[in-house]
Amino acid sequence: MKLFGVLGDPVSHSLSPAMHNAAFSALGMDCEYHAFKVSKETLHDAIHGAYALGFGGLNLTIPLKEKALDIVKPTELAEKIGAVNTIDFKKGILGYNTDGIGAKKALESNGIEIRGKNVLLLGAGGAARAIAFQLALEGAAVTIANRTEERAVALAKDASRIGKARGTGLDELKALINDCDILINSTAVGMAPRTSETIVTSEMMHSKLVVFDIVYNPVETMLLKEARKAGAKTIDGVMMLVHQGAEAFKIWTGRTPPVDVMEKAVRERLE
Ligand code: NAP
Repeated sequence: MKLFGVLGDPVSHSLSPAMHNAAFSALGMDCEYHAFKVSKETLHDAIHGAYALGFGGLNLTIPLKEKALDIVKPTELAEKIGAVNTIDFKKGILGYNTDGIGAKKALESNGIEIRGKNVLLLGAGGAARAIAFQLALEGAAVTIANRTEERAVALAKDASRIGKARGTGLDELKALINDCDILINSTAVGMAPRTSETIVTSEMMHSKLVVFDIVYNPVETMLLKEARKAGAKTIDGVMMLVHQGAEAFKIWTGRTPPVDVMEKAVRERLE
């Protein structure tokens, strides 16, 4: 049997074990995936311990994604993003970031083309960094708007080495939304337990907008409720979670996992 796991703190709430175990079981693979509570201080030992024990691979979650850069050999993209969410042990200890590709596939699986689109990305934290680089790579024009404006400007500067990106604060949101095709919330605003919060309300949106909230707990956030009121198309955060996991699964096993089975496992846990 091959073991896989997610390291983080807190980690008991993680949906990754249910999602990956459902995929292993559907494919009849002799593998198991578990959650392990690991701190920044013990991350080095945990990663090297998993390597020594012959683990098939790891995921990392809060607060370990940035710290792992000092421990693993990151891909060029993970290094640019500044965070690792997937570790593979086949050729040493390699660190990947699959969050951006997860967001891209969540949009594409909803029939949304990214190339040439004006995207307004709210947030400049870890997830926003991965998404900003991916969108720039895919040929979107990205405006990053963040509460702490300097972080948005710094991220835009980094992402503009790959494609079109600019950074700003949250003051002119209505005008920015008027000019955009896709609005992505990659802040933690709206996440449980503060589910009544949203940065953008329906009066600020238009009906041609696609609104993608990467927060998946709750599945229907206040932002998505407001977007629906405005007649905009909505995409929830579940498919990003599933697709970032599916990319990790491919890296570890070389097999394409059943995304529908993974989605069902996640939605059942969230309901
Ligand atoms: P993070 O690194 O801590 O970044 C948090 C971001 O939220 C920052 O941009 C922060 O702005 C902003 N923010 C927090 N509170 C705010 C407020 N009250 N008003 C305005 N902005 C606020 O977190 P992260 O790892 O990027 O994760 C962000 C969210 O994405 C979380 O809810 C996480 O669960 C979700 N997520 C989902 C997926 C998925 O697969 N669907 C993957 C990764 C993350 P400042 O810079 O001003 O502090």
